[in-house]
Amino acid sequence: MTDAAGSTQDNAVAEAIARAAARVVPGRACGTCTLCCKVIAVTDFDKPPGTWCAHCVRGNGCGIYQTRPADCRIFFCHWMTEKSLGPEWKPEKSKLVAVPGEGGHMTVFVDPGTPGAWRQSPYFETIKHWSLEGSRASPTRIVTIRIAARVIVVLPDREIDVGNIGADEFLQLAPAPGGGIEARKVQRPQA
Ligand code: SF4
Ligand code: SF4
Repeated sequence: MTDAAGSTQDNAVAEAIARAAARVVPGRACGTCTLCCKVIAVTDFDKPPGTWCAHCVRGNGCGIYQTRPADCRIFFCHWMTEKSLGPEWKPEKSKLVAVPGEGGHMTVFVDPGTPGAWRQSPYFETIKHWSLEGSRASPTRIVTIRIAARVIVVLPDREIDVGNIGADEFLQLAPAPGGGIEARKVQRPQA
């Protein structure tokens, strides 16, 4: 039996799934790709980024498809929803999972097995283009590379390797003394 609160939550998830699915480019499908199940954290299972989800059947899909967490149900990577990204951007080929975020930020999750993939052509040029477009809209609108816990901020003119960011830390952006912005990791305030 589902109570009223549970039913409302189910409806909200169903609507979010429908909205997400409507954004998928016609004809595009995950197929044999399962890279997001490795590179992105899954909070429901305390799965860290950069390690395979225990439920992933690599090259096939989700082993708990019918009961997978809501976050997994509504997730589609940028390649699935952005028509201009060609077949070379399919994550199982590029080893990169691009994810647009709030405020126009872009995060590119890199397979830790190929940590330099984002620096290869044509990916690096496109990542730099995203960075330039973002900085024109807002100086703090950035592209972030994530390789497991490691974070690299890509600015139009340089990259800032912030190093590993732990669960008790976060990335902070601030105006640089000589112009532009700087990025650093800082400790989360104690609760
Ligand atoms: S990374 Fe993208 S294409 Fe690959 S399984 Fe995830 S959503 Fe599908
Ligand atoms: S629960 Fe399924 S869809 Fe979600 S990360 Fe694990 S394998 Fe992927």
